[in-house]
Parts: sequence; structure tokens; C-alpha cells
Amino acid sequence: MAVPVTVGRETLGAVILHRPLQDIQATVRDARRRLVWAFAIALAVSAALAAALSRSVGRPLERMARAAGRLAQGDLDQRVAVEGPEELQQLARAFNRAAEAVSRTIEEQRRLERMRREFVANVSHEFRAPLASLAGFIELLEDGTIPQEQAARYLELMRQDTERLSRLVADLLDLSRLDAGKVTIRPELISAVDAARRAVLGVEPRATSLGVQVEVAAEGSPAVYADPERLQQILANLLDNALDHTEAGGRVEVRVSGDAGWTRFEVVDTGEGIPEEELDLIWERFHRVDRSRVRSQRRRGGTGLGLSIVKQLVELHGGRVGVESRLGEGSRFWFTLPASPGSLPGTL
Ligand code: ADP
Repeated sequence: MAVPVTVGRETLGAVILHRPLQDIQATVRDARRRLVWAFAIALAVSAALAAALSRSVGRPLERMARAAGRLAQGDLDQRVAVEGPEELQQLARAFNRAAEAVSRTIEEQRRLERMRREFVANVSHEFRAPLASLAGFIELLEDGTIPQEQAARYLELMRQDTERLSRLVADLLDLSRLDAGKVTIRPELISAVDAARRAVLGVEPRATSLGVQVEVAAEGSPAVYADPERLQQILANLLDNALDHTEAGGRVEVRVSGDAGWTRFEVVDTGEGIPEEELDLIWERFHRVDRSRVRSQRRRGGTGLGLSIVKQLVELHGGRVGVESRLGEGSRFWFTLPASPGSLPGTL
């Protein structure tokens, strides 16, 4: 670089300043190296950041997508871990809630479908036995295998089979109408004791022939707000069951009492009782206790639907049902119904 030397207006000369070219080139190289390093470091940092981001966001999202896929294929246990940034955690929680709801709905559908299939299988099974027995007897009567003098005995068995089929059809119709919400009750204020006496009168011929004593015991004279025909159906069902399971010489009692706006009915028998592990199951459709020793001698041939109808009818009135039983000592079936139209839900 030239720096002029001037005195006043006169330029006397110039001072030439210079730096070797190598120095300049070295400085430029150094600057370039620094630039390359800075760029490389920036690149490495951003790659590391991108990798970290992909780990904390991309992987959980991938896992969620995989879980959704498996859920769609029917694996209802799929849930994802709640982790990563807050937004991801929210998403994971929402996913798990949705998965929970989906699996609940599908489980319920599967349960209903299973019940429907079992129901159809049970109904077919219940029809098959009496129909097969009827067909067999008809054939034996037709081809003369059964001698004329014994025909009456077989006709009696055939009558029992047809009665059983009619009961089955009636119970099935009742159940399907109850399920469809088509049964409407027409409650009236009536005497609970009269209702109990009427029901006992209905089973008296059978009780007498079985050698079982049936009685009504009442505390006071409580009223009950119930559909009279449905109440008879409930009591008849429980009384029939009690007679089915009580041996000759036993006792069945219908007890009536009232308290706090509710009327309580109890059908108590001195029969064979119910095993403890069966007490919750007997209310289910078609459930019958295998060990029912007395019943097998009686051949009334229950449908296994009676108690589930009783339960639904009582609940339709707003009441509750229950049972206490000891094997070998007897059973106590009870239900509560409103004592008046103003009765509040409650227990006795
Ligand atoms: P079923 O038509 O067989 O009587 P239910 O639904 O009325 O059907 O009763 C279900 C089962 O509960 C009966 O099969 C029987 O095993 C049992 N059960 C009901 N009542 C009594 C009772 N009083 N004593 C003993 N077992 C009973």
C-alpha cells in the first residue's frame, strides 16, 4: 500500500507499505478452515437435534400407529406408554382412552353375541328333549309296542311333555316381551296377604299330592302397590320352585311384612337348599342346579327361565329380589314391592 508524503502543497514522495502474500493467504486459509469447522459443528448439532426430536416425537408416534393397527386387527389390550413432550403425552392419553372405550364396546358386543348364541342353543336343547320323547311314545303307541292296558300311563307322560313345551313357549314369550320393554305393569293398591293366599290356593292341589304343607304367615295386613296378575306370576313361580325342591313332609311358607314404604314377601321352604356357589347363578337364564335331587323325582321339568322372569318382573315394579339358602336346610326367596304409589326406592 502507498502512503503519499506531502509538505504543504508539495508531494515529496511516497512510503510504500507491503505485507508478504503468504501471510495473507494463510489468513484466508485460516478463515476458511474456521468457516468449515463452524459449518460442520452446526451440521452435527442440527443432526443431533433432529435425531433427538425424531426419538422423542417420531418413535412414540410410530408406536402409536402400530398400536392402532393392532387394535384394528382385534387385539383389544393395545395401549401406549404416556411419555415424551406434553403434547405427545396428551395424545397418548387420548389414544388410551379411545382404545379403552373401543375395547369396552367390542367386549360388550362379543358378550351379547355369546349370550345370544348360548340362548339359541339352550332353547333348541330344551325343545329337543320333550319333542323326542313325544315322537318316541307316538311311534311305540302306533306300532303296538305299548300294550293297550299301559297306554294311559304313556299318555300321561306325553301330557307332561306337552305341558313342559307350553310352559317353555310361555316363558320364552314373556322373556322376549320383557327384554323388548313391551311388558307394562298396571299397579293397583291391593292387600298383600290376600295376594299371598290366592297364590297358595293355586298350588294347593299340587302341594297336597306331594305331601308338602303350604301356609301364609303375615305380620299385620300390609298393602302392596303392584300389578295383581304379575304378582301372582311371581309368587306362583317361587311357590312352584319351592314345591319342586321340598320332599314330602316338608313345609313351604309365604311370609308377608311391611316396613318403610315397602312390602316384603318371602317364600321359605324346608327343602334341599342351594349350594352357595350357585346362589348368584340361579337368576341367569337356563341355569339349573345339577344336584337337584328332589326335582328329578318330580319331573315337572322346569325351563330354567322362571327366576330370571321373577327378577325382571320385580325390578319392573321398582323392587328387589334375593335369596338365602343352606344346603340340606332349605331356601328363602324374598322380594320387595312398593307399599304405595309414593314409595321411594329403598330396601327392607
Ligand atoms: P326352573 O324352571 O329350573 O325352576 P328357575 O329359573 O325357576 O328354573 O330356577 C333355577 C334353578 O334354581 C332351579 O333349576 C333350581 O336348581 C334352583 N332353585 C330355584 N328355587 C329353588 C328352591 N326353592 N330350592 C332349591 N333350588 C331352587
